[in-house]
Amino acid sequence: MYSVRGADEGTRGMGTMTRELTHFVGGKHITGTSGRFSDVFDPSTGEVQARVPLASTDEVRAAIANAAAAQVGWAETNPQKRGRVLTRFIDLVAKDTDYLARLLSSEHGKTVEDAKGDIQRGIEVVEFSVAAPHLLKGEYSTSAGTGIDVYSLRQPLGVVAGITPFNFPAMIPLWQAGPALACGNAFILKPSERDPSVPLRLAELFLEAGLPEGVLNVINGDKEAVDAILHDDTIQAVGFVGSTPIAQYIYATAAAEGKRAQCFGGAKNHMIVMPDADLDQAADALIGAGYGSAGERCMAISVAVPVGKETGDALAAKLAERVQHLNVGASLDEGVDYGPLITRDAVNRVTDYIAGAVDSGAEMLADGRGLVVPGHENGFYLGPTLFDHVTTDMAIYREEVFGPVLVIARADDYEEALAMATDHEYGNGVAIFTRDGDTARDFVHRVQVGMIGVNVPIPVPIAYHTFGGWKKSVFGDLNQHGPDAFRFYTKTKTVTSRWPSGIREGASFVMPTMK
Ligand code: NAD
Repeated sequence: MYSVRGADEGTRGMGTMTRELTHFVGGKHITGTSGRFSDVFDPSTGEVQARVPLASTDEVRAAIANAAAAQVGWAETNPQKRGRVLTRFIDLVAKDTDYLARLLSSEHGKTVEDAKGDIQRGIEVVEFSVAAPHLLKGEYSTSAGTGIDVYSLRQPLGVVAGITPFNFPAMIPLWQAGPALACGNAFILKPSERDPSVPLRLAELFLEAGLPEGVLNVINGDKEAVDAILHDDTIQAVGFVGSTPIAQYIYATAAAEGKRAQCFGGAKNHMIVMPDADLDQAADALIGAGYGSAGERCMAISVAVPVGKETGDALAAKLAERVQHLNVGASLDEGVDYGPLITRDAVNRVTDYIAGAVDSGAEMLADGRGLVVPGHENGFYLGPTLFDHVTTDMAIYREEVFGPVLVIARADDYEEALAMATDHEYGNGVAIFTRDGDTARDFVHRVQVGMIGVNVPIPVPIAYHTFGGWKKSVFGDLNQHGPDAFRFYTKTKTVTSRWPSGIREGASFVMPTMK
């Protein structure tokens, strides 16, 4: 059988070999038939390393029909046995992590160590999902009336779909697939067309772990595939993670089609640095959270907000010194702090933002444009870029840049800093660095953002809490992972039953109450 692992080993740098990827339906790799493809690059070299088929509506429909047939038996499998499949999957991923991380790194451009974190963060949600027997337990009320008991149970939705972004090709598919499968659903994954090999490999590992064929199908594609999912009556729920305009579109379309939807969008995460903060700790945190993964994280810090002139001057000096020492290079190389961006288009888009910020009067402390990595002259690199004196009316402050660009937007006092994070249209994550508990507590209470770090720069919640932003960072009302995922991927049935059957009260024509 074709396998992602067998197919791609050793192809990097060969240039002449372009692998053709597949879909994964019914437990098999399926060659695309639409005749449409998208290039998959190695961002470190700029070379095309594979091409991925873009599914037609008919191909998507066939995958959904396959999933619907498989879902019936999976839903009837008891949750503990479903959990055992997930446990075996976790073991298989652990054994395959080095390979998966290198594959991920070579398509995405994040470093191998960072890619391992991407995989591990996904696996932690699968580990949480093994607790399905506990999480799917319903509620029971005895003697709600004479001989009447009331209970509720959670049942799977049926066939559900996930549409995922390029920047976490292991973590986000697993955040969706783990709980969706544990709940007894079949899952259609439409991963990003930029880096689809890891999702395909994960599907192979699920099959090897004992997941019945068809319960997880991976369909590669673009807008056509997404629209086919959105307009298919069999699909009961759609989970989306990606940019805000697409999140908004998918949420509106799915809702109009009567589907459950949770759509997570873009971000502009602030980090407030109070005058009493440990400035070296804050500067280190900003460097890691701002430039790690080339800033291509929805929880990256892109705005530093020092409070007061003295704090601002000291922090700017520390950041300007630190960015000079960052090592940008090929993602598979040792000792690299961050690698290339995902595409040449992404480099151009970020470069335009940098030029715009210069034009609008921001003070440039480091310019990453034009960085060339020796030996990889065609790679999609951008050096670390740092601006000071950025104001809230500038595009580089208002919009998501999604690159290795950190801006310092100074605040005169705490209230101004709080208002900046609160008033920004995005509300994914925010951090405050301070030694003062009163300030931290006030900030946590009042700021209008979904995920908050206190002296923690990237507050991505652990698997058993939920992940989700506020405002334009999310459309829908349940978060990812944690208990919310089990609510999202199930529907509640409530049963009112009367036993013994011999009770006779005669016909009643009024609404039953507890009076
Ligand atoms: P994207 O919106 O371009 O793509 C995401 C998915 O949508 C992909 O599978 C893509 O094929 C599909 N898609 C793209 N255009 C579409 C269209 N017109 N119609 C239908 N489907 C379409 O996002 P991306 O560039 O892959 O990822 C980066 C974005 O994701 C950033 O904005 C980042 O902040 C966001 N993100 C958010 C979170 C979160 O939890 N809030 C997590 C990770 C990434």
